[in-house]
Amino acid sequence: MRLLSDTMEMWGCKKNKPQYFLSIVENMEMKKQAEALMPTPWGNFTMSAYSDDSKDKMPHIALVHESADRSAPVLVRIHSECLTGDLFSSNRCDCGEQLERALELAAEKGGAVIYLRQEGRGIGIINKLKAYNLQDEGYNTADANAHLGLPVDDRHYGLAEEILLDLGINSIHILTNNPLKIKAMEISKVNVVSRVPLIIKAKKENEFYLRTKSEIMGHLF
Ligand SMILES: [Zn+2]
Repeated sequence: MRLLSDTMEMWGCKKNKPQYFLSIVENMEMKKQAEALMPTPWGNFTMSAYSDDSKDKMPHIALVHESADRSAPVLVRIHSECLTGDLFSSNRCDCGEQLERALELAAEKGGAVIYLRQEGRGIGIINKLKAYNLQDEGYNTADANAHLGLPVDDRHYGLAEEILLDLGINSIHILTNNPLKIKAMEISKVNVVSRVPLIIKAKKENEFYLRTKSEIMGHLF
């Protein structure tokens, strides 16, 4: 199994400069454009839409459960959009199940889900479908992106930091298996109190994908 530092180096990051990899976006002028109550099968949330521009049709979304106590650490899932998994329940990944479980836990524990519009780890749906074809030829999820000349992970978690601080959530229990996401939030202004694993059972179709996440990308389970 590769160490996280090796993985980062493999992705072109100098071991002593992880902040380069984490690409925290600065100088954004993102703000809350609108907010509404959102009853869901898991409970009542407030949904807020964040973007730089009020006409943006793909704003980032925050869902905060009605029982969240923002004066204490809040259980937070930072979820990156996965159209295929979240909306169509694709079995190629575990995103749809992770999102559902996160909403369920947010309702149970007074938590929040931050939904970032960075489809396919930031490469977009078109490139994701191309990468799936390569995966069908035997490439793993990281190598398929590399083959297409795309970054393995081009996500920016500085967006989540901005949204959380705007929501008045300064301290979190982070619901994730991704060590890079933990690191990104640890160097942010948001205080990370603990890490809560998000356990999803592997299926036949996504077993290889989950193994790659664990062995190549250093995900914790
Ligand atoms: Zn997915």
